[in-house]
Amino acid sequence: MKEPEIRCPKCGWRPTAESRWSCVASCGTQWNTFWTAGMCPGCGKQWHHTQCPACHARSPHKDWYHFPDDDEKTVEEDIVETADA
Ligand SMILES: [Zn+2]
Ligand SMILES: [Zn+2]
Repeated sequence: MKEPEIRCPKCGWRPTAESRWSCVASCGTQWNTFWTAGMCPGCGKQWHHTQCPACHARSPHKDWYHFPDDDEKTVEEDIVETADA
């Protein structure tokens, strides 16, 4: 079984082990969101969108995973800036 590649669907930036995201709207925890599939370890909030530190675009968390067998397909959809429910 192959591991998916994780990279920004917009600019191709790849997170490293040192990359951190902040649970800004909720508890302020900083963690690597790809270790928990988008769930904040501090408050358990599930983040459905992940912001890229490189290009600052917010993309659905699942769109960051690129499986080797997937055809490269460009998702042309507008991402609205809404708070995750
Ligand atoms: Zn949190
Ligand atoms: Zn990016």
